[in-house]
Amino acid sequence: MRVRVPFGRGEKIGLLLALASQAAVPRHRLKPALAVLDAEPLLDAPLLDWLCWVNDYYHHAIGDTVFTALPRILRRGEATTMKAFRCWRLTDEGLAQRPENLSRAPRQAALVRLLQQHPQGLTPVELGRELASWRSAMQALRKKGWVASVAPLWPRPVPPSRSPARQLNAEQVRAVEAVEAARGRFACFLLDGVTGSGKTEVYLALIERVLAAGEQALLLLPEIGLTPQLVGRFEARFGRPVAVLHSGLGDSERLRAWLAAREGRAGIVIGTRSAVFTPFARLGVIIVDEEHDASLKQQEGLRYHARDIAVARAHRLGIPVVLGSATPSLESMANALAGRFHLLRLSRRAGGASPPRIERLDLKHQTLRESLAEPLLRQAAEHLERGEQVLLFLNRRGYAPTLICHQCGWVGQCRRCDSHLTLHQEAGRLRCHHCGAECPVPRQCPQCGNPDIRPRGFGTERIEAALREYFPSHPVIRIDRDTTRRKGSLQALLAQVRNGEGQILLGTQMLAKGHDFPNVTLVAILDADQGLFSTDFRATERLAQLIVQVAGRAGRGHKRGRVVIQTHHPDHPLLETLVEQGYQAFARSALEERRLAGLPPFRHAALFRAEAPEAVLPQAFLERLAGFCRRISPTVDCLGPAPSPMERRAGRYRAQVLLLAERRQLLHRTVARLLDYIEQEKLARRVRWSIDVDPQDLS
Ligand code: ADP
Ligand code: ZN
Ligand code: ZN
Repeated sequence: MRVRVPFGRGEKIGLLLALASQAAVPRHRLKPALAVLDAEPLLDAPLLDWLCWVNDYYHHAIGDTVFTALPRILRRGEATTMKAFRCWRLTDEGLAQRPENLSRAPRQAALVRLLQQHPQGLTPVELGRELASWRSAMQALRKKGWVASVAPLWPRPVPPSRSPARQLNAEQVRAVEAVEAARGRFACFLLDGVTGSGKTEVYLALIERVLAAGEQALLLLPEIGLTPQLVGRFEARFGRPVAVLHSGLGDSERLRAWLAAREGRAGIVIGTRSAVFTPFARLGVIIVDEEHDASLKQQEGLRYHARDIAVARAHRLGIPVVLGSATPSLESMANALAGRFHLLRLSRRAGGASPPRIERLDLKHQTLRESLAEPLLRQAAEHLERGEQVLLFLNRRGYAPTLICHQCGWVGQCRRCDSHLTLHQEAGRLRCHHCGAECPVPRQCPQCGNPDIRPRGFGTERIEAALREYFPSHPVIRIDRDTTRRKGSLQALLAQVRNGEGQILLGTQMLAKGHDFPNVTLVAILDADQGLFSTDFRATERLAQLIVQVAGRAGRGHKRGRVVIQTHHPDHPLLETLVEQGYQAFARSALEERRLAGLPPFRHAALFRAEAPEAVLPQAFLERLAGFCRRISPTVDCLGPAPSPMERRAGRYRAQVLLLAERRQLLHRTVARLLDYIEQEKLARRVRWSIDVDPQDLS
């Protein structure tokens, strides 16, 4: 339950986790709470127990962990009853009004204008955030019959028509039955299905059975996979609303979905990583789609991996959990090979589409037009002329990653990071992709005054310009963070893609996943070499996953797809294994490398990071920490301290220490003792430090 407590001169919302008759703090230093905000516990005991486990696993602070699991409205101390969230909405008459005609009642005019922008209605809290005082104006509008107070829109109305279930193929049936047989007890399944093999159909069939048994289902997805189309597919199939939880939701929408799940009114919850914390009345299955996706790991605060804690949650609840992917993480592959996860395979594309043909295009000695090789352009022209679509993938947005002076060699550099500034030609700005710093593009070299400064390298903006010139009669649709900043713009672009013929789609990894473009028959990866020579031990795994996922966009309809990988290293063993033998073979050889190097998943990792405005402090702090670690746990491998791959970011110097241990228990004991040590280490107060268990990103 939440309590309001005095804190310094102010007040804070606190959490009452347990009652005790003894306190570790002297009695005279204890203060009474000001109010208990909830009439009954917000979370049930099993959920709270699991959160405590999550907290211990990531060595976090329990208050922050539980708060992470609560919707923001509750963190702020607001009420949990839906009464407080009745909306004010314009009536048809109100919608037809012109606010200009209310010039003598400016408050009412502002209110009408605001509500016209939010036809689905606003709660009192949301109104209060937009307008200083609105209540008397609202009463006036109500007397005119222009507004009404309505119950919040959950469940949303869903079209009554239901799309019929598909006839599943043999592999899909086997997968559904294996999970079905495990209903009511814990079992973890790895659903390893090639792109387009019908994994989503398997999820639908499973959820159908769970709903029929009166239980609820949770489906977790990476941010990018959660599209209105997907939610629509679920709602149409079951003819009932799906509760959706993702970071773009308004506070009250989120609370509505959260409460609906907790009270058992929502049968299906679909959400991104934080939805793993949703309370349920009768959870029957958890599904994690694209389980390899890095966005399932939170990179700040409580650094949890939604997949891993979902498995732990299912274990505690005694229910099955399904991890799905066309490119399973090496962690999950290792678990499947060791027999801890049950492996389910979907080896063919459903609906008869054949797998794409993948070829490596050696860039050495090729004539390049703005980084596009002639043979690729010729092939693209053929596909476009047949009215088919071509998808080009480049994981670098902006016009060019560097701007350089042709006279003196000056390079646009971020003042606060060890990084070049990216040229954004359309915006006329130089931007740092790491700290957000930006400035106008200089007209001349800041160092020597020479006006001949040139872009070097290629980003999506530059390729777009080149494609428009080379293929003037075929529209180019670019999809990256810059073209999709406005709400709804991604959906609009995707709709254009689905309606069009003979188009070129160009984009960053936003295009790589989840989308089904049946008319795309040629996919090109413009620069595979980016990921081949990185210092991060996960880089090759990520590259292989990306290639397979992007390739999976090709030929999902009736026409066979082709994939072209542009590279200067066609003989690189990673590319060779991946292209000649497929992802499974790649994963086996990558796992063997990890085993030999003693890296995860064969040893368990934890990463201490520290940063400060002065370079010596994080280094000195971590030096002491590493020294202590080597004394208390000689069998834990303690690497560093070393500067982070990007040492300076946003004006701070960063360093890290990586711990590797064969046994997880030993790693956790060691981390716990290091945290005690940090408590009394004075240098810790002069740096910003953090602990990351199972780090995904070593930068
Ligand atoms: P995945 O999630 O594995 O990428 P989907 O479930 O989206 O695959 O299925 C890919 C395509 O194949 C979809 O258009 C889907 O409707 C179709 N499909 C899936 N299962 C079947 C089936 N058993 N028979 C025919 N078509 C199917
Ligand atoms: Zn110069
Ligand atoms: Zn920067």
